[in-house]
Amino acid sequence: MTTIADRLSLAQSRIVLAAEKCARDSQEIQLLAVSKTKPIAQILAAYAAGQRSFGENYVQEGQEKIQALQQSCPDIQWHFIGPLQSNKTRIVAEHFDWMHTVSRLKIAQRLDAQRPNSKAPLNVCIQVNISQEDSKSGCSATEAITLADEIQKMPNLKLRGLMAIPTATDDIHVQNLEFAELQKLYQVIAATSNDIDTLSMGMSNDLEQAIAHGSTLVRIGSAIFGARG
Ligand SMILES: *Cc1c(COP(=O)(O)O)cnc(C)c1O
Repeated sequence: MTTIADRLSLAQSRIVLAAEKCARDSQEIQLLAVSKTKPIAQILAAYAAGQRSFGENYVQEGQEKIQALQQSCPDIQWHFIGPLQSNKTRIVAEHFDWMHTVSRLKIAQRLDAQRPNSKAPLNVCIQVNISQEDSKSGCSATEAITLADEIQKMPNLKLRGLMAIPTATDDIHVQNLEFAELQKLYQVIAATSNDIDTLSMGMSNDLEQAIAHGSTLVRIGSAIFGARG
């Protein structure tokens, strides 16, 4: 039986290998452990193995975990990576360190207004819809450029980059096309500020292709914690 520590180290090896293949420094690629739906005991196991950044998709669940682990694991970086309704922005603004799924000005404005002064600015990625599926959230490339401009004026938000969830497919050709599109847009936006250093793309099944297209943060759930029920 493999443990969470084993699977974490396996995921790290995949990152190192993928980086080597495209002559990148694996140090510039961060592993985000996606712990959504998984119990606190599993987060603690990953923490004991050295993992410090975790991603959650649901505000309530995320808030509960953050509060439960505040004392024992104060150095965890919490990333919100799920869809967010505007009436739930306060929880993200008050508890998380990162927010990956901003795709509307209204959400950004609320997060900026609700971020407590006692905290560092909330790190933000703009979610871009690079997938062909209508159901996926995120804004268009054109909207992302305008939104990036607006977010950079907000004192309590720090724009760090872009995030995307590509079409769910095993077709490597489709995956590569979509990642390449996001990489191109990222290069345009990154040229506007030194703070922009994050391209959040790649999950358990496609992290290799994402890294080949410049990903600096891969979001890995099932490969670490097992399939979700
Ligand atoms: C669930 C989720 C992940 C992790 O997906 P796995 O395939 O389990 O690695 C990554 N990113 C987002 C936005 C998710 O919702």
